[in-house]
Amino acid sequence: MKENILHNLEVIHNRIKKACEKAGRNRNEVRLLLATKTVSPELIKIALENAQTLIAENKVQELKEKYGALKDTPHENHFIGHLQTNKIKDILKYDVVCVQSLDRMDLAEKLHQRLLADGKTLEVLIQVNTSNEESKFGIHPDKAVELTRKVSEFSTLKIKGLMTIGFFSAETEKVRPCFKLLKNLQQEIIKQNIPNVDMKELSMGMSGDLETAIEEGATIVRVGTAVFGARVYPDHFYWNEGV
Ligand SMILES: *Cc1c(COP(=O)(O)O)cnc(C)c1O
Repeated sequence: MKENILHNLEVIHNRIKKACEKAGRNRNEVRLLLATKTVSPELIKIALENAQTLIAENKVQELKEKYGALKDTPHENHFIGHLQTNKIKDILKYDVVCVQSLDRMDLAEKLHQRLLADGKTLEVLIQVNTSNEESKFGIHPDKAVELTRKVSEFSTLKIKGLMTIGFFSAETEKVRPCFKLLKNLQQEIIKQNIPNVDMKELSMGMSGDLETAIEEGATIVRVGTAVFGARVYPDHFYWNEGV
């Protein structure tokens, strides 16, 4: 298993490097985030001990279960799943530095209240539903600028950019419009010069479509199966905290 993971990481880093070259981008502009849902701490550690630094869970329960086993291995933790407001305390307790899935005001409000009480700040990305599929979370693209503006008023929330899942399809040309849309929203928000808003990050692209995402401007690609192997359940199972 260890050899597989190391080999897969090498393949992924090569894919990222090639995609950057093709897009005329600097390799340093793109970070690899490992999506670790269903992966055991032992396997995650193999990656972390081999130069990987950024991981993310979808479910608070998994974050909690793996926390103890991973806390002494240096890494940065993001959260990429649907976040229920009653799980906010845990997110903060288990050292998540960035919630990439901020998609609604009530979540922003409750995060802010909790962070104020704790005297902390938190990085966030605004998650946009670029594919208009009902099963996915994220703010509607037409409402993304407005949500960004409102969230920017919470002093504890540091907006760093946008995130999307995009169309889930083997045909990368179907996904490309989703990535373009996210990039356009980023540009629109930058133009508005909103105080307390940094639009540096575009988190988009997964195992199957990271090249397309990099061509369209991704700064974080989120990869799971291509490093750790296939998962048992279909993806929407993990995207929905409620099931
Ligand atoms: C699982 C997951 C990924 C990674 O997907 P793979 O196809 O396994 O690379 C990326 N983003 C989110 C939000 C995920 O839940």
